[in-house]
Amino acid sequence: MTATILPGQPHIAYQGSNLCMENVKLSDVAAQFGTPVFAYSKASMLSALSAYQRGFAGRKAQIHYAMKANSNLAVLQVFAQAGCGFDIVSGGELARVLAAGGHPSKIIFSGVGKTRAEMKHALEIGIGCFNVESDAELEVLNEVAMSLHKKAPVSLRVNPNVDPKTHPYISTGLKGNKFGVAHESALQTYQRAAALPGLHVVGIDCHIGSQITEATPYLDAMDRILDLVTDIEAAGIPIHHIDFGGGLGINYNGDTPPAADQLWHQLLAKLDARGFGDRQLMIEPGRSLVGNAGVCLSEVVYIKPGEQKNFCIIDAAMNDLPRPAMYQAFHQIVPLSPRTGAATLLDVVGPVCESGDWIGRDRELNVKAGDILAVLSAGAYCMSMSSNYNTRGRAAEVLIDGHQVHLIRDRETAQITFQGEHLV
Ligand SMILES: *Cc1c(COP(=O)(O)O)cnc(C)c1O
Repeated sequence: MTATILPGQPHIAYQGSNLCMENVKLSDVAAQFGTPVFAYSKASMLSALSAYQRGFAGRKAQIHYAMKANSNLAVLQVFAQAGCGFDIVSGGELARVLAAGGHPSKIIFSGVGKTRAEMKHALEIGIGCFNVESDAELEVLNEVAMSLHKKAPVSLRVNPNVDPKTHPYISTGLKGNKFGVAHESALQTYQRAAALPGLHVVGIDCHIGSQITEATPYLDAMDRILDLVTDIEAAGIPIHHIDFGGGLGINYNGDTPPAADQLWHQLLAKLDARGFGDRQLMIEPGRSLVGNAGVCLSEVVYIKPGEQKNFCIIDAAMNDLPRPAMYQAFHQIVPLSPRTGAATLLDVVGPVCESGDWIGRDRELNVKAGDILAVLSAGAYCMSMSSNYNTRGRAAEVLIDGHQVHLIRDRETAQITFQGEHLV
């Protein structure tokens, strides 16, 4: 008997009474590598990617994986081998892409605070595009490029001022956000960019937020961006590529985001209707490529009944799974081998000394100490946001491919967490 637990995620399913990822029993992963451990399904990542590829069939389009969602080298390798470029936000991410075999020309560099040193390195290796976010950054990039006798390829990240209807911390395209140049002043900034000798204007981009579950904000942002492209080109500045960013949501808890191919069917229809159908397109998906491809396995350490609440204390914590503490985010939590019998209402929490250290509240679970739980939808913004708080070593990570389990990150020892520190 096979029973999938997340709609549309055939790669994570119960086979009999064992939760499996592809052809691997997750209890075997926990036994072999210990807990907490993150497991990612390669087939699930590639199937998420293929939805975008189907959507763009026959178009000039490049998918840049927004690697801050999950930046493990082996995950990057999977996407590089599948033809993806990368959207990076730091010099550290640049180093990772290169270590994973990504091609410099397929790298785009986003972020509001690029330093001169980061710009210099990116120019030296010849990245595809800088997504510039302010007038001040434009001036600095021009200086750095001139000092290297190069022309930096630039796109301006425009803030289209549309509401993505998501959590405020992951809304990025509203007037009050720190990201991008204002729609109203974008033409002026383009004229400035075109006049600077160290820059070569190649595109325009936007990224309106994350965990977006409706098509409307994308359609609105596209209209706003295309209006601008018309104005910018009328001013004599050709726009070679249009980059619509990332942000498509995933199903965490009955969320119903559009499928990537269906979303792009609608967006491309608008693009065609407005006469921009033959443009070079770019996108920067992160969460939607990896989020539901990953689980975090964690052992129940104690069951602690309380007067008001019962607690299930697990060996993963907010340092491993920061999304609940940061955004009150929801992750489904399921046992690897469900017990028969009645469930209890429990708060699933970690051992960290913070009341914010909870992973799931008011969950119906029938568990005992020693059981292993799977925290679902843990492929994006979990390990990449993890920390060593409470001197907890980061979890191990494995990549599952059919019957094979590859260790792709060692569990951190305590020594590693204080390596580089010095007694005086
Ligand atoms: C984070 C980010 C993305 C990816 O967002 P997802 O919601 O993970 O798809 C894309 N572009 C930029 C500029 C980002 O900062």
